[in-house]
Amino acid sequence: MFQDRLQQAVARAERSGVPLALVFVDLDRFKAVNDTFGHDCGDALLREVARRIRDRVRESDTVARLGGDEFALILENLSEAEDAARVAQDVQRRLLEPVLLAGDQIPVSASMGIALWPASGRERLLKDADAAMYRAKRQGGNGHRFYTEEMNAQATARLTLERDLRRALQDEQFVLYYQPQVDLSTGRIVGAEALLRWRHVERGLVSPGEFIPILEESRLINSVGRWVLGSACRQGRAWREAGLPPLRVSVNLSARQFGRRDLADDIAGALAEGGMEQENLELEITESLLMEDPETALATLGRLRTELGGVGISIDDFGTGYSSLYRLKALPVQRIKIDRSFIRGVPEDREDAAITAAVIGLAHDLSLRVVAEGVETAEQLAFLRAHGCDEAQGFFFGRPVPAEEFAALLAGNGPGAKDRPR
Ligand code: C2E
Ligand code: CA
Ligand code: CA
Repeated sequence: MFQDRLQQAVARAERSGVPLALVFVDLDRFKAVNDTFGHDCGDALLREVARRIRDRVRESDTVARLGGDEFALILENLSEAEDAARVAQDVQRRLLEPVLLAGDQIPVSASMGIALWPASGRERLLKDADAAMYRAKRQGGNGHRFYTEEMNAQATARLTLERDLRRALQDEQFVLYYQPQVDLSTGRIVGAEALLRWRHVERGLVSPGEFIPILEESRLINSVGRWVLGSACRQGRAWREAGLPPLRVSVNLSARQFGRRDLADDIAGALAEGGMEQENLELEITESLLMEDPETALATLGRLRTELGGVGISIDDFGTGYSSLYRLKALPVQRIKIDRSFIRGVPEDREDAAITAAVIGLAHDLSLRVVAEGVETAEQLAFLRAHGCDEAQGFFFGRPVPAEEFAALLAGNGPGAKDRPR
């Protein structure tokens, strides 16, 4: 019916020449409502949202639910584009008025995208409004955006990137770089974090911040993630066979990988094929991923522990994910990595210094080892040493480098490495 109404509205606009707007509405964090309060409350919330939107628009306008937590509004006979923005703002305001759900007052917010006819033609209206909504969402939600040509260009660039990424695996364009993790009591390299790089034919080395989100969204992350695991395990074994000192290799796991049922099988397969001991592999999982759904995360970690007891787990980017300390106690992990953003301010920034010192103390009380990330200066290192931090990683010790260069670092990794000039 929505499609039909849209076709008719566009036909009328084409005859009269009067602009119309399509507003795409997507609720923010609706999944959390379902997860926290249950689906009945989620349904009640959707009905309330629908009522509030309908109350705001004119009798002749159309409001539809497209599915899930997505709604669309067709606004006809606009005198100017700003009319559509005003409707979006009003709807926004009405939604923020808390809804009473199971005794709790829940404020609702939405991300909205607006596309206008004639700028967006009949066939493009919905797509363009969706693209604009996506942008509003990316900018933190609770707001609206008009569709622009530049969004189109960005969407096209993204599609190109995705197409290139699909070929990258078979064309062997991925490589792993390794960054040293240093034991602060001995000064020796005890670990290597594997960091993914993409050698793009035209663009050169592309950093993971740019393409990992696309891999995640397109689900390519599963096959690439398996490649990373396999490649890291083979490399760990190769270093051992070259007679280099034993080393823990850390691999980053993405949200999608972590959510897979056969994760343990993938890891076991990589270890077996690469010929690496469980004890030498560590998985890095971000704190925010663990805290997104703590119960499921705990179950997944429990399974990993049963099936692959020797594999280490560390919590990555710690301090950014709002862990409840109680939850931390329950997790079967060995190490936490203090996020770069705290180390950056150490020792000058009093808050960063206090948080860093507190995290080290807390971790030790829970018998966890602590790694500081992003250590760039001697002052940061001195602070971390003084507070008993166990390990550190960062440009001060070495940037991520290809495996051959890392082997050279390792070779010079004998006793007394602590006093080596850097
Ligand atoms: P991360 O796991 O927090 O990795 C550390 C990042 O900090 C790396 O960026 C590294 O180059 C950078 N870094 C290390 N030392 C310093 C320092 O002293 N100063 C500064 N400013 N930065 C430092 P990179 O390699 O660009 O990776 C970015 C993120 O991409 C990683 O963050 C990780 O979340 C993700 N990533 C990288 N490789 C993989 C992978 O194989 N799989 C998955 N799922 N994610 C990966
Ligand atoms: Ca990491
Ligand atoms: Ca990190």
